Amino acid sequence: MKRIGRKQLQRRQAIFMISIVILMGMVWSIYAASSSISGNRITTSAESTVSLNKNKGVSKSYKIVIDAGHGGKDPGAEGVSGNRERAYTLALSTKVYYLLQQEPMFEAHSTRTDDTFVSLKDRAQIANDLNADAFISIHGNTYGDPDVSGTESYYYSDESLLFASKVHEQLAEATGFKNRGVKKEGWEVLKLSNNLAILLEIGFLTNPSDETNMLSEMHQNRTAQAIVRGIKKYFLDRES
Ligand SMILES: [Zn+2]
Repeated sequence: MKRIGRKQLQRRQAIFMISIVILMGMVWSIYAASSSISGNRITTSAESTVSLNKNKGVSKSYKIVIDAGHGGKDPGAEGVSGNRERAYTLALSTKVYYLLQQEPMFEAHSTRTDDTFVSLKDRAQIANDLNADAFISIHGNTYGDPDVSGTESYYYSDESLLFASKVHEQLAEATGFKNRGVKKEGWEVLKLSNNLAILLEIGFLTNPSDETNMLSEMHQNRTAQAIVRGIKKYFLDRES
């Protein structure tokens, strides 16, 4: 019984050793296979992402720079109620920025995110350095006569005219103010921009009715949506 037991033990040990060798071989082959697969996997997923985008018709992300006019030591226009333009432009620009971020076709950027002073040259430079597709400066208008009201949009380079028209069309309808049209003007930020560049005067902060609307959260949301709709329309039309 004892001798048989030892033989069985030796046989078990032999089986155990063989199993270890086989197991090591399996582990090695799995490791070798997985490292070559993981190498391939990177290429495959990158390729499928590209083809997925192609299928969806999203050719690329457009870089859009939103410029909240004025800020810091430059308060801009003073509204009827004493509110300053720098606060209005920041509130609206922030809404436009977040709406743009939600659109897969856009990469949103802003020239300022708080109440700080940024020079006109630096604003245009931010967009130029990014090689942006479009620069949109947001303002509230001012005039000595409080009866003057309405929405107007500006462009400088002729290439920006169509872009200004598409955005203005949506904007003027959304504000509900008098439509003062699209105008050509050599504003410094527009002149210094290498990309599509427009300046939007949403309404007159010096007009009591315009100002009341402009300071309301609901009107700002509607205005922001219209600006994004206009930008989107322009780039989609250009793609097709
Ligand atoms: Zn302004």
